[in-house]
Amino acid sequence: MEDVRSRSWLDFVHMPVLMDHKYYGQTGEGEKLEIPEADVGIISGGVRNEKEKHVTEEMRKKCGTLIALGSCACYGGIPALANMFPLEALYQKVYRESKTTEPGDTPAENIPPLLDRVYGVDEIVPVDVYIPGCPTNPDLIVKALTALLEGKSFKLPERSVCDECPLKREKKAAGGAIKRTLDSVDFKLGEPYEHTRCFMEQGYLCLGPVTLAGCGHKEGDNGVTVPRCIKGHMPCRGCFGPIRKGANPMVDMMSAISSIGLDAKQVEDRRALLNRYIGAQNRLRPLPERPKR
Ligand code: SF4
Ligand code: SF4
Repeated sequence: MEDVRSRSWLDFVHMPVLMDHKYYGQTGEGEKLEIPEADVGIISGGVRNEKEKHVTEEMRKKCGTLIALGSCACYGGIPALANMFPLEALYQKVYRESKTTEPGDTPAENIPPLLDRVYGVDEIVPVDVYIPGCPTNPDLIVKALTALLEGKSFKLPERSVCDECPLKREKKAAGGAIKRTLDSVDFKLGEPYEHTRCFMEQGYLCLGPVTLAGCGHKEGDNGVTVPRCIKGHMPCRGCFGPIRKGANPMVDMMSAISSIGLDAKQVEDRRALLNRYIGAQNRLRPLPERPKR
């Protein structure tokens, strides 16, 4: 392949959202999946069915560097919450038990079969660069591509959203109860960020302590970096995923909640809530059925 670092332009050779490039020839005449070779390939979305698995494997063969873009590609994302249920239970719910659907058979013709669960891209093929987030921070895409053009690697530093958050922390909660996220946080509008108390210390579940930093934007030339949701007066929901591979945000979050004096048992539906964006990588699995009473 040509060394693109000597070039001042980039070619897009395959981009389904912008280009009408079919996988099996423009009229479906091809017998083999066809993706052109490229120096860099970007995959968004997790791997849910046979077709996506095939495309992912083909992308790996054809691309020098493979980027997983967004939390679905990196960790399964929201769709991987389905990994909490066996496939048959999902079919049953969607096609036969849903109140808004006429009960019927599970569709099987002319659609790719589902895999047993949702997979992150790196559970199917090796990934070179991870750019998580739901959605990600566009600056990170620019930084990653620029680094690749300069022949460098790209990896987000292992820092938490809290490490970047400018809100004031006193290391203890202001009250004992965990509040609903839809209640409004106390935010000192128009004042420096450090005049507003940490949302978790205000009693709101904020996943900043266990979430990888990277979503934040610098305010002004010499200003502080503010995580995206904090700037929007909302607690972090954990969309950038774990701070390092192999970490267990659910366990770490329970400990962070308890450490400031909140009662971790008040967090409802903990397994889903604290693994909301990271259900692939075998993080979420169906629980064994409880014996009926
Ligand atoms: S818990 Fe949330 S609000 Fe508190 S410092 Fe961390 S990111 Fe900021
Ligand atoms: S603050 Fe948390 S949920 Fe919000 S964009 Fe950043 S990582 Fe995602």
